[in-house]
Amino acid sequence: MTKLNQGLGVFLGVLLTTASWAALAADTAQMKKDVATWVDGNTKTLEAVNRKIWTYAEVGLEEHKSSKELQDLLKANGFTVKAGVAGMPTAFMATYGEGGPVIGILAEFDALLGVSQSDSPSPKVGANPESGHACGHSIFGVASTGAAIAVKQLIASGAIKGTIKLYGTPAEETGIGKVYMLRDGMFKNDDVILHWHAGDKNEVGYKSSKALINAKFHFKGVAAHASAAPASGRSALDAVELMSVGVQYMREHIKQEARIHSVITKGGGQPNVVPQEAEAWYYVRANSFDDAFSYYNWVREIAESAAKMTKTELDAVTVQSESHDMLGNRPLAEALHKNFAAMGMPQWTQAEMAFANTTQREFKDPFGSDFTKAGISLSTKLEPLVDKFDNTATASTDVGDISWFVPVGGFQVASVGYGLPMHSWPVVAATGTSIGTKALVTASKVLAATAIDLYTDAALVAAAKADFKKVREPLTWHTAIPDGQKAPLGVR
Ligand SMILES: [Zn+2]
Repeated sequence: MTKLNQGLGVFLGVLLTTASWAALAADTAQMKKDVATWVDGNTKTLEAVNRKIWTYAEVGLEEHKSSKELQDLLKANGFTVKAGVAGMPTAFMATYGEGGPVIGILAEFDALLGVSQSDSPSPKVGANPESGHACGHSIFGVASTGAAIAVKQLIASGAIKGTIKLYGTPAEETGIGKVYMLRDGMFKNDDVILHWHAGDKNEVGYKSSKALINAKFHFKGVAAHASAAPASGRSALDAVELMSVGVQYMREHIKQEARIHSVITKGGGQPNVVPQEAEAWYYVRANSFDDAFSYYNWVREIAESAAKMTKTELDAVTVQSESHDMLGNRPLAEALHKNFAAMGMPQWTQAEMAFANTTQREFKDPFGSDFTKAGISLSTKLEPLVDKFDNTATASTDVGDISWFVPVGGFQVASVGYGLPMHSWPVVAATGTSIGTKALVTASKVLAATAIDLYTDAALVAAAKADFKKVREPLTWHTAIPDGQKAPLGVR
């Protein structure tokens, strides 16, 4: 079914076609039509850039080629690009325009380790056997970049006034990029931040995300011959294992919605040497940052105790990053919902629906779930905007941290078979095909249209700020990352 890519045009250059902007008058309806026409007219270029980033499938903080693709596109279209911001070589900030309002759009582009997949609707290792875009961040980055360039053209034509910023935010999957960019002073002076995400539904988010603390625990023991002189050795791996046992017992006594998961990043060299060094990497999550922080401190005490039990040393605990729970913004959610409805849902072909249906049938989960039972291969409807803020989040994002400082609005566009989970091979497959292209085109239009409202309607910006103030004021910000800590150089 690589047929879905047959329409992919040859990518000849980075400069996008300029539309003949009809909207020199401040007519927002016409401006929205213009950006939609512009996005449609540049679909081939956006699709080609997505396909490249999707193929690179670079993981967090190694997204050199992916980041460059977006930067090149922005530079060729008149943006000033500051690369390597906040100490991360792949992070960047692109700016166009001057004065207010300042609207920021987020772009992500990191892939996930261990989820390789081709653009086949059946499980099949892709060109990059190590990693894949199983969270759809290739389309995320490209759609946001397209939206920023569309908005830029309205600023350049004089139809709207203000500044558009596109943030290239690396390593979202480890919650690193935006957190260190924020610590470096970015986002905080913007009026509004917009973002979007791939998903199985068309839906505007008025919901939270889980708070997360991402930490590594490093133990030091004494190496010795494991058979000839075990009494002379002290195993750092034993400490990692006992820490894990302690955490399993802890689970019974924490709130049900909390999540703790780990991997062993260092476990020794070979069996006949007592491991001198071992390291476990933990994600501790809860529905509020305060809960996540208290569980993290408990996990840390378990690590200290495991070191005591094994006569080893817990010689380093590094909080690599953290994500705060997402705060909602009602006026932005309503504006996004209205624009999403007006721009329309992706329209799927029979071939695209058949592709998604195959992935639903071929994706096997341990419960034998039937992903076709809702009778929807790809969603074609916009989910209603929930009335009440939904705090039953399951996933985390470093967008959450920004939402504690600036009004943030976001949404998801259907880009994978209905009901299928993220971080799975069907997401990689779909986002590398025309399904991903249609999702990114839709997202680009919704982002640009909402930005137009924000540039032209001061009352909307004021309402977003007032709502932000109301939600944020009772809360106290704190962080588990030590003062002055620099961004890590790699995710593992
Ligand atoms: Zn994601």
